[in-house]
Amino acid sequence: MARYTDAVCRQCRREGQKLFLKGERCYSDKCAINRRSFAPGQHGKARKKLSEYGLQLREKQKARRYYGVLEGQFRHYFDLAERKSGITGENLLQILESRLDNVVYRLGLAMSRPEARQLVVHGHFTVNGKKVDIPSYLISAGDVVAVRQKSKQSEKFKVIAEANANRPVPGWLEVDRENMSGKVVALPTRDQIDLEIQETLIVELYSK
Ligand code: SF4
Repeated sequence: MARYTDAVCRQCRREGQKLFLKGERCYSDKCAINRRSFAPGQHGKARKKLSEYGLQLREKQKARRYYGVLEGQFRHYFDLAERKSGITGENLLQILESRLDNVVYRLGLAMSRPEARQLVVHGHFTVNGKKVDIPSYLISAGDVVAVRQKSKQSEKFKVIAEANANRPVPGWLEVDRENMSGKVVALPTRDQIDLEIQETLIVELYSK
C-alpha cells in the first residue's frame, strides 16, 4: 500500500501549522512547530509571497497531509464530492472525515491518524460487528466502529484509552469508552470539522 514516508514533522513545518501526525508529541513542547516554526530546508526562513496558484496548492497539500491521503485518492474524493449534491468543498471534507482511520482517531481509539491507519490495517477494528482492515473504508451514519474483542485486552489499547480518556470527541460521534467503540450519529457538517483550511481554494485548484 502506498503511503507518504517523508519525515513527519517536516510536513507540519511546510504547512506552517500542526497536522497532529505524531500523537502525544504533538501536544508537548517537543513539537517541531513550537520549536522551529518555519519551513524546512535551506530557504525555509525566507518568507515568500505565494501566487494564487501557490495558495491553492498549499491548501490542497495541507488537507492531503492532514488526512494522510495520496494525490490520486484525494482527486478521487474530489470527484465524488463534485457528484454529490451540496457544496463541493464541504462534501470533500465530509468524505475525508468519513474515512475509517479518521473516525478511529476522532473516537480517541488511536493517538494520531497515522497510528489509526496502522491499527486498522492490522485488523484491530470492526464496523457493525464485521472486521474491516481498510483505512480508506468510508463509514455511514448509524455505523458502529469498535475495537475487536481480542484486541481490547492488549497493552496498546490500554495505553491509548488512558491517554485519551479526556480527549473531546466531535458531536457527530458518540463514544462508549468502556467498550472501546463509537457510533456515527450523523456525517459531520462543516462547523463540526476543526480543520483550519479554506476548502474553496482546493475547489478552485481542481476546477481550472
Ligand atoms: Fe506536527 Fe505533531 Fe510533529 Fe508537531 S509533533 S510538528 S504537530 S507531527
